[in-house]
Amino acid sequence: MNAIRFTDIAEPRPTKEGLKSAYDAITVTLDRGDRAPALADWDLLRRRYDTWSALVGLRFAQNTTDEAAKAERDYADALSPEASDLEIALKRRLLADRGPVAAVVGEHAVRLWDTDVTTFDPAIKPDLEEEARVSSRYTELLASAKLGIDGKTVNLAGLGPYAEDRDRSVRHEAERVRWQYFDANAAALDDIYDQLVKLRHGMARKLGFETYTPLGYRRMRRVDYGPEDVARYRQQVATHVVPLVGRLLEARRSENGWDKLRYWDEALIDPAGNPKPAGDHDALVEAAATMFDGMDPRLAAFYRRMRDGGFMDLKNRPGKAGGGFCTSFPTEGVPFIFANFNGTHHDIGVFTHEMGHAFQNWESRNQPGVDYLWPTMEAAEINSMGLEFLSYPGIGKLVGEEAAERFRRMHLIGALAFLPYGVCVDHFQHEVYANPDASPAERHAMWARLEKLYMPWTDYGDLGFLLKGGRWQAKAHIYGSPFYYIDYTLAQCCAMQFWVKSRRDYAGAMEAYVALCGRGGSAPFQDLVCSAGLVSPFADGALADVVQEAAAVLSV
Ligand SMILES: [Zn+2]
Repeated sequence: MNAIRFTDIAEPRPTKEGLKSAYDAITVTLDRGDRAPALADWDLLRRRYDTWSALVGLRFAQNTTDEAAKAERDYADALSPEASDLEIALKRRLLADRGPVAAVVGEHAVRLWDTDVTTFDPAIKPDLEEEARVSSRYTELLASAKLGIDGKTVNLAGLGPYAEDRDRSVRHEAERVRWQYFDANAAALDDIYDQLVKLRHGMARKLGFETYTPLGYRRMRRVDYGPEDVARYRQQVATHVVPLVGRLLEARRSENGWDKLRYWDEALIDPAGNPKPAGDHDALVEAAATMFDGMDPRLAAFYRRMRDGGFMDLKNRPGKAGGGFCTSFPTEGVPFIFANFNGTHHDIGVFTHEMGHAFQNWESRNQPGVDYLWPTMEAAEINSMGLEFLSYPGIGKLVGEEAAERFRRMHLIGALAFLPYGVCVDHFQHEVYANPDASPAERHAMWARLEKLYMPWTDYGDLGFLLKGGRWQAKAHIYGSPFYYIDYTLAQCCAMQFWVKSRRDYAGAMEAYVALCGRGGSAPFQDLVCSAGLVSPFADGALADVVQEAAAVLSV
């Protein structure tokens, strides 16, 4: 049997009428009392819809100048609320019969639907459409940036390599240019966020919530923790991680002989220059096969399937959308990874990260229902960030053996330094949605105050926009994906536990990782974490051990 190729995947375009009659047919089957066949039909319908929708999104991302792909994406965007409406109505009906339904689909699926049905009501449909429109104004504003540096014109992502240049004046210039753009658009950025906060608060009130926060948690499908747990976790970061990162930055300052460590020095982790990939795209794709061979036979075989089937698009080219992601086709089971290699170490980070998502999706392809193919985000990011750490022993294949140790050190420091920033982004959003009437200036003051708590080392020098508390405006998640950011920090805490385990027993850690991938999204976050032998980030001590190990390895 030949393995499937990406070009073989196709799914006819659904229509509003077609979806409606498919849902009607499922309802008729349920009315007859044939619960299991109805649920099976619905599962297949959702898989086909998701496969089509993923293909449409991917084709547009691969070439944003393709008018036909753009038209198809617009069609899909317009169809999506109609599909959600039908889906939510059916979930409501099934929840009225939850015991017998749970016996077929599992308890966790039913819990997930509980969160879904409370986040939607036809009364907020116009608000949701408006939220999407206002959010895309932010995306477009950032995408339209044309910035001059080094005699060239680049976009915001194009500043990346300059921002970590070995030459301090180049790094400073990159940050000056970046934040000048935000300063020039400050009024629009404040206005967009103000509208989003008010829209979200309004939707929460219409749905019967006091503020947006509980609605935001439900939209993230969080079923096993709440804001108090997250607040305790942020406190753990403040207690254990903030002092360590402070020591690391102080060591960097003295190593480089600087009088002060400025904001633009934070991205240059390795004084000899952050290690880069050892070769170009083709060389990296080739070398990765050898690296995965040394890690796990299942992972190695899966990688070859992805590579040989054309399930990767990693090269940067004009017209391609920015960023990196993994998408999936639930009718087929083989996922796809997308990236834009730019020759920096980020290529390796993005590649191993997205491969982690892809491997999880593949390993869990035989989970019984579409709800279990992906975990909720904080758990999904363990699979991706976990693979970044588990790739350490063979990373020399990608970065060159002579640079392997420097790469591992840089990656570990980067992971630790991310945590204070990540929890600050989260804490800020809790304050914002608790005070929906705050003025833009008051929001900037909130950020500036929290920043001092979690990143007391920050020295913005002459970057005036940042001194006024504007840094958060470059974080797309704050605008487009509220409360989705703590997820990365929770997952990082778990991924670093895999790192500690892999230093004692690599094969054992890898086995636990593969098993976790196989469980996909079949359980809530903390159940998945505990099943892999990890400590929940909400439990005391989840970070203490990791920080102790990191401090020893990094000698600080
Ligand atoms: Zn990810």
